[in-house]
Amino acid sequence: MAKTLMVVDDSATMRKIITRTIRKAGLSVADEILEAGDGGEALEKLKSSPVDIVLCDINMPGMNGLEFVKQARQDPANANTKIIMISTESAEDLIHGVKADGADGYVTKPFTPETIQKELSPFM
Ligand SMILES: [Mg+2]
Repeated sequence: MAKTLMVVDDSATMRKIITRTIRKAGLSVADEILEAGDGGEALEKLKSSPVDIVLCDINMPGMNGLEFVKQARQDPANANTKIIMISTESAEDLIHGVKADGADGYVTKPFTPETIQKELSPFM
């Protein structure tokens, strides 16, 4: 069955690029890909529209991606939701930290459809 997705990024342009890249990656994804502009909006949307996979930026005004992961993981309703970070940040410590907090994967910007395909395929 096609997976449901949410793309969380403060840049509407980046959300479009990520969405388009996911389509190009040839993965089995539901027609509607949800979007949110920061972590708080994403948490709200997850309450009414749970998804299989969240792709989440780190640097966002309002609630950033690191805080989003912590808060999302405190709600058992999101236990089966996979969270993949997509960020320009590439510091090893930061990547390890957010994975320890409950992120399931990490993609650095800029990315290719192949990178997205590789990172998402274990969860498809
Ligand atoms: Mg950002």
